[in-house]
Amino acid sequence: MTLSHGRTHLAIPGPSVMPDRVLQAMHRAAPNIYAGEVVDMMPGLIGGLKSVARTRHHAVIYVANGHGAWEAALSNTLAAGEKVLSLCTGRFGHGWHEMASALGVNTVIEEFGLKTPVDPSRVEELLRADITHELKAVLLTHVDTSTSILNDVEVVRAAIDAAGHPALLMVDCIASLGCDRFEMDAWGVDVAVAASQKGLMVPPGMGFVFFSDKAAAVRDKLPRVSRYWDWAPRAKPEIFYQYFGGTAPTHHLFGLREALKMIEEEGGVEKVWSRHAHLARAIWAAFDAWGAEGPLQMNVVDPMHRSNAVTSLQIGAPNGTALRNWTEQNTGVTLGIGLGMSTPDDPKGDGFFRLGHMGHLNAAMVMGALSAIQSGLTALDIPQGAGALSAAADVIAQA
Ligand SMILES: *Cc1c(COP(=O)(O)O)cnc(C)c1O
Repeated sequence: MTLSHGRTHLAIPGPSVMPDRVLQAMHRAAPNIYAGEVVDMMPGLIGGLKSVARTRHHAVIYVANGHGAWEAALSNTLAAGEKVLSLCTGRFGHGWHEMASALGVNTVIEEFGLKTPVDPSRVEELLRADITHELKAVLLTHVDTSTSILNDVEVVRAAIDAAGHPALLMVDCIASLGCDRFEMDAWGVDVAVAASQKGLMVPPGMGFVFFSDKAAAVRDKLPRVSRYWDWAPRAKPEIFYQYFGGTAPTHHLFGLREALKMIEEEGGVEKVWSRHAHLARAIWAAFDAWGAEGPLQMNVVDPMHRSNAVTSLQIGAPNGTALRNWTEQNTGVTLGIGLGMSTPDDPKGDGFFRLGHMGHLNAAMVMGALSAIQSGLTALDIPQGAGALSAAADVIAQA
């Protein structure tokens, strides 16, 4: 017998849980792409995306995943042979950097480890040392989904400014958008990338790039921009198909419209951030209690440096894999694999897991996921501190 039948909960952390409303909005006959609703909804979608990213500048959509959005951002800002600085706090920082290298960009990696955020004084030092301004951009991952480190975008901007350096600040917000506070304009971000399947609650398949006028001017000076990734026609389309460089992702657009409407109905993205912050505190209260005895520990020690979208954990091999398998098979909750915490052939890799808490998530879903973990710890005889579920419930009671 298994107790997993019923609605499953995917907490891996992305793709995230899809709201029924989004699914229903997508469930329709193929729409016309030359006139009608799909064409008419575009200005509203672009406006909605900009309000979620807190920018008055430009937003474009690609039929792509997050990797596509990475490539799009790089393709519009850097020529082969130019140099960028990649600030890495986990696997995703490396991923963006590898994408840049493959485009012939000369990348300089600065590693900040897997436990603590980017140190702005080191960034300032590196930029001050670049007297001839060879570095054209700084690549930062707002939330690295592998380690669950939350980087402080504002202080990195301040470090770039303190060094008097003209490099663009480019930020990967794929995990954080719609979960952790992100203020593109107020924080002086030049380029931000995101995707549909995390905080925005839509299936994978759309990548988003937001860019400032300064970044647009850099694009205009590049000798060549690959046709598909070029953001200029997408940002100012003369005819509809230019929004997408081809056929629109019709059903995703209906899903996105519904998701943006849900964010509006909640009271705007600030309310969405507050919900995620509160739910994250409940989750961390449970992990603190479990971790008082036994092997389960959160990866990021300081709560100030933790994302509200995902929590990375260590529990010792083989407990991480065993717990994930147990909760999926017996409760219908799918936890995330550890990512970037060990090499693929390292047996210690079975000692990590992640809990995704992005997007469409309420207190009942959080308590359900935590209860599944509690049952798994007990069933697998993994030593643990007491009182985790009531600690989480106490935080939720402060709603
Ligand atoms: C998920 C994620 C990506 C990759 O997105 P894909 O859609 O899988 O290509 C990149 N960066 C971060 C921070 C992510 O969370």
